[in-house]
Amino acid sequence: MMRRFLTILSVLFLLLCVLIWVRSHFSADTLSLVRTGIDKPHDHGDISNAYQITSGCGAIRFEFRESEDRNRGTDLYAPEEPPPPKTTRLHWFASSPRFFDVERSTTGPGWRREFAGLAAGRETYMGNHAGSDLWYFEMPLWVPAVLLILCPARRTCSSLQRLHRARHNLCLTCGYDLRASKDRCPECGNPIPPPGVKNTT
Ligand SMILES: [Zn+2]
Repeated sequence: MMRRFLTILSVLFLLLCVLIWVRSHFSADTLSLVRTGIDKPHDHGDISNAYQITSGCGAIRFEFRESEDRNRGTDLYAPEEPPPPKTTRLHWFASSPRFFDVERSTTGPGWRREFAGLAAGRETYMGNHAGSDLWYFEMPLWVPAVLLILCPARRTCSSLQRLHRARHNLCLTCGYDLRASKDRCPECGNPIPPPGVKNTT
């Protein structure tokens, strides 16, 4: 039951993956969770965090960005400004895949590692009035698709194998030839189901 549920779930996610892959060539979609007004010891102003997932150009990119606006809270720029409000906002937006491609290939100061289409990196900007620290991980959409196909593929193979064994009078468990056997499989000891009874073990 659990295995069947996992298989159905895998197939559904696989279909979703294919849909996202097709769509990613026409539109770059971003789901973003932004938190503002984060307090940190020794910060200079207003810190905000953004967790982002973007699909575009057949790839999926995960990002975490911490930004700091140093204008706020300093005497020089905003002496009377109250502390920034704490907010959490989830939003979705679409942009052009071309724009996404340019954005992800323009690397700033930091590091980037690439391997077999996967990429990970960090970009840090530190200005006088603002700074940001970005971590990202990127992979082609075929990577999750291949992982998701494993479960249903394994189940299909084992169903085909059982069908083959049942048709050729072989033990369903170990594949031993049962034509000369009765009651139990001489190889693995499993009981032989009477003809016409479906063995579900
Ligand atoms: Zn057997």
